[in-house]
Amino acid sequence: MLWPADYHMHTPLCQHAVGTPREYAAQAQKLGLTEIGFSDHSPMRQDGFDNWRMKLAQLDQYVEDVRGAQRDFPQLVIRLALEVDYLPGHEEWIRDLAARHAWDYFIGSVHYVMDSWDVDNPSKLAEWAAHDVTEVWGLYFDRLTHAAASGFFQIIGHADLPKKFGHRPSGDCGPLYERFLDAAAKTGTAIELNTAGLRKDCKEIYPNPQLLGLAARKGVPITFGSDAHAPAEVGLNFTEAVELARQVGYSQRCRFVQRRREIVAL
Ligand code: ZN
Ligand code: FE
Ligand code: FE
Ligand code: ZN
Repeated sequence: MLWPADYHMHTPLCQHAVGTPREYAAQAQKLGLTEIGFSDHSPMRQDGFDNWRMKLAQLDQYVEDVRGAQRDFPQLVIRLALEVDYLPGHEEWIRDLAARHAWDYFIGSVHYVMDSWDVDNPSKLAEWAAHDVTEVWGLYFDRLTHAAASGFFQIIGHADLPKKFGHRPSGDCGPLYERFLDAAAKTGTAIELNTAGLRKDCKEIYPNPQLLGLAARKGVPITFGSDAHAPAEVGLNFTEAVELARQVGYSQRCRFVQRRREIVAL
């Protein structure tokens, strides 16, 4: 198949991924991908915020690791990026991070639906018993809408993450999706088809077909990501993802070079 770029890949610096950037690149090349991007979990201004991201002092090493893979795999286009957490009040820090290196793109992700709860964290499943599912999805999409409206991010990551463990509201989420996608369309922010959802309890690509269909109608651009935390996950389930994108009406995807968007055929 004609592979889209895999723009969502991690490195061991985030403390919960395995394999060197060179091993991810080797796997991509073996599969026949021509473009990938590393988007590891960004550091916070203060270390110790949680235990699933690189430390601030490791940021330069991260960039060097990616540059090393670029040197070793000249036939493969390798983008330098970060997956950046969007939380209210973090705007100054995100601007600071953006100025530190020549990033190709930022994936803006909402993991924290409140200060103390990263909604995808398996060690915090007990929180679900203490909160109403509809309320959690509302909090999540409120933050996601702010992330899309901020213009800080080229791509919004896994746009319906709260479904990870199978928690889905019984009512219609259409209005939440509409508000988020209107913000994304207005700022020209892309969303990703993230195949990691297929490997979780929800057994579904992020985002769901309803959200993705609305995104297609509103002209919100797309990228693809495996969210690989191991080399063997690079490009995983991309055939299904491309098929889904086409089904809901997409014929194009985008790529980013130094944060400038290019549209290419799917
Ligand atoms: Zn991760
Ligand atoms: Fe994420
Ligand atoms: Fe990720
Ligand atoms: Zn991710």
